[in-house]
Amino acid sequence: MKPDKPHILLVNPWITDFAAYDFWSKPLGLLTLAGILRMHDFKVSYLDCLDRFHPNAPASDPGARDGRGSYLKTRIPKPDVLGDVPRNFSRYGIRPDWFREDLNALKHPDLIFVTSLMTYWYPGVQETIRCIREIFPDTTVILGGIYATLCRKHAAGHSGADLIASGAGEGLILELAARHTGFSVNSRFDPEDMNSYPYPAFDLQRKVNYVPLLTSKGCPFKCAYCASHLLYSGWMRREVGAVVSEIRFWHRTHGVKNFVFYDDALLVDAEKHALPLLEAVIQAGLKIHFHLPNAIHIRGITEPIAAMMYRAGFKTIRLGLETIAFEQREGLDAKVTAAEFVQAVRLLKNAGFNKDQIGAYLLAGLPGQSLASIAESIRIVRDRGITPIPAYYSPIPLTGLWEAAVESSRYPLAADPIYTNNAVLPCRSEAFSWEVVSYLKNLSSGKLER
Ligand code: SF4
Repeated sequence: MKPDKPHILLVNPWITDFAAYDFWSKPLGLLTLAGILRMHDFKVSYLDCLDRFHPNAPASDPGARDGRGSYLKTRIPKPDVLGDVPRNFSRYGIRPDWFREDLNALKHPDLIFVTSLMTYWYPGVQETIRCIREIFPDTTVILGGIYATLCRKHAAGHSGADLIASGAGEGLILELAARHTGFSVNSRFDPEDMNSYPYPAFDLQRKVNYVPLLTSKGCPFKCAYCASHLLYSGWMRREVGAVVSEIRFWHRTHGVKNFVFYDDALLVDAEKHALPLLEAVIQAGLKIHFHLPNAIHIRGITEPIAAMMYRAGFKTIRLGLETIAFEQREGLDAKVTAAEFVQAVRLLKNAGFNKDQIGAYLLAGLPGQSLASIAESIRIVRDRGITPIPAYYSPIPLTGLWEAAVESSRYPLAADPIYTNNAVLPCRSEAFSWEVVSYLKNLSSGKLER
């Protein structure tokens, strides 16, 4: 008799934070690894601590708000070191006893992979791994993802995982699976060619309420506040036909109507990628919507791009403006000039997009940044007739701004990733104040004019 194929469990951990919301946020990397493992004949199970559609949770319409929605949340004590922050702290996601029941209902796994996202969410990762260990004390737990990559040493010392896997998981997964289960396979895909990847295993979720698309990986830029190059330093793209086939697949098999681009640099080299992709999507004639919660490059918006995005069914456009201090952004990034910003907004509006569909991200809380300069950026964006969206800065180790962030912060940032939580505005020297956040929020929404 042939031995059973190894059973591998993949887990998306809880978020622990002052606030969290499902703004089209799925663990795409983890579900891609699930697809790769299935492609190579492993048995795969998936548990999502952030599952908004858990049978024990109050009923929620997966189609509402284009798939977005609130996570369940449970108030928990805030980390001691952030005791000065006058905000409630919560665990977002399913109740721990539901998670334990789900773990208990599984066939014993031979190996467990847990992913991680924001570095300062590590308490949620710790609790997830603690629960897993209670039920499966003898199974190896491997932690990957963003926290494991950016804070490898911290994760090794504090996460509770047996092993930390840093970097892109596609190149590691089969070797790790073989080493820890004894089941080795010949690879049927190339980690350096996205076209050879299977589709991410979104079907392992209880509901496929929207589908993230990754049509390219990497970013040729290196903005001082961004970790993109640390997570993946290369650059690769999928063939347009393969992306459209995937869109058709999820639409046909799961009735998916909302697709969300996760690319960091969708509009780079648009003649060869974005334009043919938009053309093909329009040709496909599907009644679906697209969203760009990851900012797109303002410089990449041309008249044909804007017109085709509108025709293709894009509903949410986010521009990576970051600051309106155009003359002072040297050393920060090389994104855009005032004229380019004005032109991009004009092209998008001419194409048919309205104010609520176009938002511009504005970094708030950069080292040394005054409140007045953020307020000025918000006002200028509002004057162009689009929506300003303050994006609170989270300092990231090994990025260009890290040293300045450490110097400007009232916290010892390097001592613990918990301090880098953007919700506490860690790079302001003054203590967190609700007045600052409310002021920026009201200015952005137009409730406060000056
Ligand atoms: S902020 Fe955007 S453009 Fe800049 S490096 Fe990151 S992904 Fe690239």
